[in-house]
Amino acid sequence: MLISPSFELPVSPVQTIFHPVLEKVGVKLILKRDDLIHPSISGNKWRKMKYNLVEAQQQGAKQLITFGGAYSNHIYATASAGKVFGFDTLGIIRGDELNPQSSPTLQYAAENGMQFRFVSRTAYRDKEEILEQLKQENVALEKAYYLPEGGSNHLALKGLAELSQEIYQQTQPDYIVSAVGKGGTIAGILASSNAPTHIIGIVALKGAKEGLFRDIQELLSEHPAIDFTRFTLLDAYHFGGYAKYNSTLLDFIKNFESYNPAVQLEQVYTGKMLYGIIDLAEKGYFKKGSEVVAVHTGGLQGRNNTL
Ligand SMILES: *Cc1c(COP(=O)(O)O)cnc(C)c1O
Repeated sequence: MLISPSFELPVSPVQTIFHPVLEKVGVKLILKRDDLIHPSISGNKWRKMKYNLVEAQQQGAKQLITFGGAYSNHIYATASAGKVFGFDTLGIIRGDELNPQSSPTLQYAAENGMQFRFVSRTAYRDKEEILEQLKQENVALEKAYYLPEGGSNHLALKGLAELSQEIYQQTQPDYIVSAVGKGGTIAGILASSNAPTHIIGIVALKGAKEGLFRDIQELLSEHPAIDFTRFTLLDAYHFGGYAKYNSTLLDFIKNFESYNPAVQLEQVYTGKMLYGIIDLAEKGYFKKGSEVVAVHTGGLQGRNNTL
């Protein structure tokens, strides 16, 4: 399939969420259902990838090269996008003890044609060096398009601007909230949202807040007019760190889904974000009568199988 800038998947719907805490405090919560964008290129990974795929095609690239962990939603989405849009894919995976059967994510990626390089955790830190090595092994990098780990670059911001545009066409939020991994998604939302909307990022990693704040500023350095007073990064809801969870989180998710049967969450990002939103609401963080839009960034391929 040929992708062009006018290639559009249907606009993702918004849905009003029920939760007794929201009733009690008088806050309206709306979920932007980016998890419904595509069954396997879902959520923010599609938003971030779209204009990168257009660019790759314009450059005549034959292959997408990217980086990630064994459970990475970005690896999953890249493999799927390669299959759908006709690129070969190469995933450079953190952990030289792994193989294509090590996780459901890698299995799926392999089934969709992704080739792998498994590198040690130390070597993984130096991405330039890995690419240099590939060149020496005659991997034809000139025919490859490089997507950074997590997919966040300036072309990703362009896709995220379309997310903000859709939200403003669908509703008038006082707050927009998203889960944060590497920060690209929240940076894109911040850059493309309007005052007075307040933008809140709920960090899914432990001890990452300051570094993330710098990364977000860096990613937005070409957007000098950004008002960081409209932006809050919260790291009280990481549940012990990236991909860590406990029974409190799983019980919250089960409860949330029982109130909103058409919605599924996962425990790495969206479950933590919604836990955070409900906790903040309960503590009176949001003004009574205000409207909060939470972005469902997808990631359901990694949903814990006890949910
Ligand atoms: C990757 C991912 C995020 C984090 O996005 P960043 O742009 O890295 O902050 C959030 N939610 C889901 C479901 C993801 O897959």
